[in-house]
Amino acid sequence: MAKKHTAQCACGAIKFEFDTDPTFIAICHCLDCKKASGGEAATYFGVPENDFTLVSGKPKSFHYIADSGKGLDRNFCPNCGARVFTNNLESFPGTVFVQIGSLDNPKGIDPVLEMFTKRRLEWEKPLDLPQFENMPS
Ligand SMILES: [Zn+2]
Ligand SMILES: [Zn+2]
Repeated sequence: MAKKHTAQCACGAIKFEFDTDPTFIAICHCLDCKKASGGEAATYFGVPENDFTLVSGKPKSFHYIADSGKGLDRNFCPNCGARVFTNNLESFPGTVFVQIGSLDNPKGIDPVLEMFTKRRLEWEKPLDLPQFENMPS
């Protein structure tokens, strides 16, 4: 039986699922999220690693060292190139960060804050949410 939340890449080769209801849903405007997503910001949330099940496909990972100096692996579909999740984060052990756009049903999974707002482009309006210039501490 599928878990509560199911997700996949753009071509459907990669599928994964989890039961945990996301709570920390962040919109991140940092330069790194811009580059990795190709958009103005990335919206993502944490899922406990032990609840995260890869159902099909073999994501390709790209090891990256963030501004903080800590490493992480960005995972994407080698077939369609869609970015799907980030894991092996030195700064958040045991947590997988999922890109909201990969969810089959993102309804009700709403952002709770915006961060790295110092990098927000001028045309992008702040949402009615707590705003953090950098990482919330
Ligand atoms: Zn794909
Ligand atoms: Zn970011």
